[in-house]
Amino acid sequence: MGGSRSASPGDRHLLRLRTLSRPALVFVLTVDLLAVVAIALSATRPVGDGAWTTFGVLAVSAALHLHCSRWIERIRRDHSHHPHVDLCSIWILAGALALPPLPAVLLVVFIYLHRWWLVGRWDASRPPHRNVFTMAMMVLAALAANTVVGLTGLREHLAARAPEGPLDLVGLLGAGLAQWAVNTFLVAAVILLTVPVRSLRNAFGTAGDNLLEAAQLALGMFVALAVAWWPGFAVPMVVAAVALHRTVLIHQLELAARTDAKTGLLNAEAWHLQARVELDRTRQRPGGTMGLFMVDVDHFKGINDTHGHPAGDVVLRRIATALTAVVRRGDAVGRFGGEEFAVLLPDIEPAEALDVAERIREQVHGLVIETGGGTVAGLTVSIGIAVYPFVPEDTIEGMLAAADSALYSAKRLGRDQVRFAGTRRRTPWTPAARTEAPDRLTS
Ligand code: GH3
Ligand code: MG
Ligand code: MG
Repeated sequence: MGGSRSASPGDRHLLRLRTLSRPALVFVLTVDLLAVVAIALSATRPVGDGAWTTFGVLAVSAALHLHCSRWIERIRRDHSHHPHVDLCSIWILAGALALPPLPAVLLVVFIYLHRWWLVGRWDASRPPHRNVFTMAMMVLAALAANTVVGLTGLREHLAARAPEGPLDLVGLLGAGLAQWAVNTFLVAAVILLTVPVRSLRNAFGTAGDNLLEAAQLALGMFVALAVAWWPGFAVPMVVAAVALHRTVLIHQLELAARTDAKTGLLNAEAWHLQARVELDRTRQRPGGTMGLFMVDVDHFKGINDTHGHPAGDVVLRRIATALTAVVRRGDAVGRFGGEEFAVLLPDIEPAEALDVAERIREQVHGLVIETGGGTVAGLTVSIGIAVYPFVPEDTIEGMLAAADSALYSAKRLGRDQVRFAGTRRRTPWTPAARTEAPDRLTS
């Protein structure tokens, strides 16, 4: 995400060059080498006099933007676990659109060296090789955009201030698309080569990440149009860039305040808040139902003891992903600290709740997790369920206590099972059990 889509801090494997797998190392070094070749080839192309003025203005604008948003990055680093955001794509695309190849790629080099000098030097999560890779990737992305500009004739039209209308719009969008595609696919490739949990969302970013990237590219297009008119017209865009940066920060802080950093699930406070709102809504709806699960991993301490605490963390993340995959979109999964999770399931009958709980058990049981400290498989969980209005309690705290005591019963009866609050029913994990409805609950 950001000016370059870069890997998130969770992608620890990217941190040290020597810990990269051989394919990942070959890939990273190839991209670095290609960028050097690309810069050398760009140097063979002619550069008109005016281009260096435009280069200077774009470089100064980008530097101003980076300086003005330094405090934003400092806050982000202290309070959020999101990757560095720089919004440099604005200036990189503007350069790719408005400049010949050599100044366009030198602008990328200038921006990333400057960024490293400003913030990167003190950021231990971004070692030099990672900065070099990001820079190399963006050199290639800018060159791809620059090639589209040349091929569509957009550069001449901009230089002559004689737009061709729809044709130039195609050139603009095509250049933005080329920069986005090269950046996105190179980042996705490096993530897929280095991170064990290979989800598309992880590799290609969320819809929000991509929208932010698209917004930067759109701003970059306007900067290019403005500098074609007169280079100094780029300067007001610094204000827009800093304002966008600040908006992104606020959004990230809001997210960080709601999120459990280890698993990406809701944290306990955010889960409680959502649960209270949902229970109020349920109570007001005639016939409304709401399920609440307490899920606790069995013998989790043994995993830490055998494979180490970091391996335990990997297991927690995989369980979190499995939980999220099993429940519906509107359900809320939270981590209550340790290896305990709470799931909120609006609009659910006890029989369906049992079905979901058994699927959770089945999913977790089927996980085979490469932790880096050894393989973990055959995990089991115990689950306590309370379903409103089938329990006497009608507050979240009451329902949590009821589900918790059901969980305690499950543990006491041997673990790896689901228990309902207020019923003596025990549901051992057999395929048949999953299709059975639970008893009506005492209330
Ligand atoms: P039980 O089947 O009774 O639930 O046994 P258990 O070992 O899962 O439960 P217990 O409460 O004895 O131990 C929970 C362990 O979870 C102890 C603690 O070290 C570990 N733990 C808590 N939070 C974290 C965490 O964030 N990461 C890791 N790796 N371990 C954690
Ligand atoms: Mg446990
Ligand atoms: Mg526990």
